[in-house]
Amino acid sequence: MAIKYAKRMDNLKASEIRELLKLTEKPEIISFAGGLPAPELFPIEEMKKVVEAVLDENGMQALQYSATEGFTPLREKIAKRMENIGIKASADDILITSGSQQGLDFTGKIFLNDGDIVVCESPSYLGAINAFKGYLPEFVEVTTDDEGMDMEELESILSTKENVKFIYVIPDFQNPTGKTWSVERRKKLVELANKYDIPVIEDNPYGELRFEGERPPAVKSFDTEDRVVFLGTFSKTFCPGLRIGWTLAGQELLQKYIFVKQGSDLQTNTMAQREINKFLDLYDLDEHVEKIKDVYRKRRDVMLEAMKEYFPQKLKYTYPEGGLFTWVELPEELDAKKVLEKAIELNVAFVPGGSFFPNGGKENTFRLNYSNMPEDKIKIGIERIGKVLKEMI
Ligand code: PMP
Repeated sequence: MAIKYAKRMDNLKASEIRELLKLTEKPEIISFAGGLPAPELFPIEEMKKVVEAVLDENGMQALQYSATEGFTPLREKIAKRMENIGIKASADDILITSGSQQGLDFTGKIFLNDGDIVVCESPSYLGAINAFKGYLPEFVEVTTDDEGMDMEELESILSTKENVKFIYVIPDFQNPTGKTWSVERRKKLVELANKYDIPVIEDNPYGELRFEGERPPAVKSFDTEDRVVFLGTFSKTFCPGLRIGWTLAGQELLQKYIFVKQGSDLQTNTMAQREINKFLDLYDLDEHVEKIKDVYRKRRDVMLEAMKEYFPQKLKYTYPEGGLFTWVELPEELDAKKVLEKAIELNVAFVPGGSFFPNGGKENTFRLNYSNMPEDKIKIGIERIGKVLKEMI
């Protein structure tokens, strides 16, 4: 059979690390590979009450089709929460999506023709890279340090390349590096986006999970021209299984997302939207987030202390003030995939960093997740990776 697929499918291939990571599904594996929240923190008892209340009070509506834009009381609550990071919005500025991942896919669909340019951080979120890849763009990566993108480099790209369609950034506890942009860089990003008339996609699933220090204002808070699209989600502050996220943008842009959503899935799951809305009515989400942060903070501390103790001295890694990840840079000649092969023999896994660079390279990096393993396993797992690294360096 010679089935002819669309050209975009050439771009969407299972990666070699996915094959390696399949081995990590065995129960004895200590995995720092995924980006999963800690399931023991999901509010299961509360959700039993929530589901019952939704069905008792509004069962017929909860199981019916509903508006593409989303459930208005939930959109109002989200708009209110956005004030915490300096974004002034109302329900009308918000579209509820099936996770923020759907907002990323829509972004590709709305903006990209074959060969258009996506400007992103180097490295960037693999799920976004893959979502955009389906629309056949070219990626231009911008060097990123502890404060965010290098703004001179960004300006030289924007001033010389013709078909840049948007700039994609994850300014808070980035996936994969765990780094957070400074306020100055956020302002400068908006300034350059205005100057060169380019939209910005601000993807922010982790900002609320800050363990210490002040949360900076969103990039969107500096936007006076409705050019920043903010993507949010309840996946990391509540639970990812419900698949509730949102796209916040000015009317012109938001209408495009709404239109595309109609063609994609008509609307986000009505029941799930009402469940989160009811949870927010009956319980205190901030209190719940505090519980999550307490657990993750301790896990981060255990991981970083173990890295200090067991990793070779000269390695560089991020000290994240929140979120789910830290990022390790090995000496240039070392391939993290080779380290992973050896680590898997010792029943430990992580994600080699190469695939977070859309144009390849930087095989000497890897990402470690600390949210999904208990403290004792984190310590054992890091000790084992340390052993492999000491043998290889
Ligand atoms: N953006 C980033 C940076 C992420 O890390 C993730 C989840 N891993 C998402 C978006 C998608 O999250 P969700 O669809 O669950 O909201």
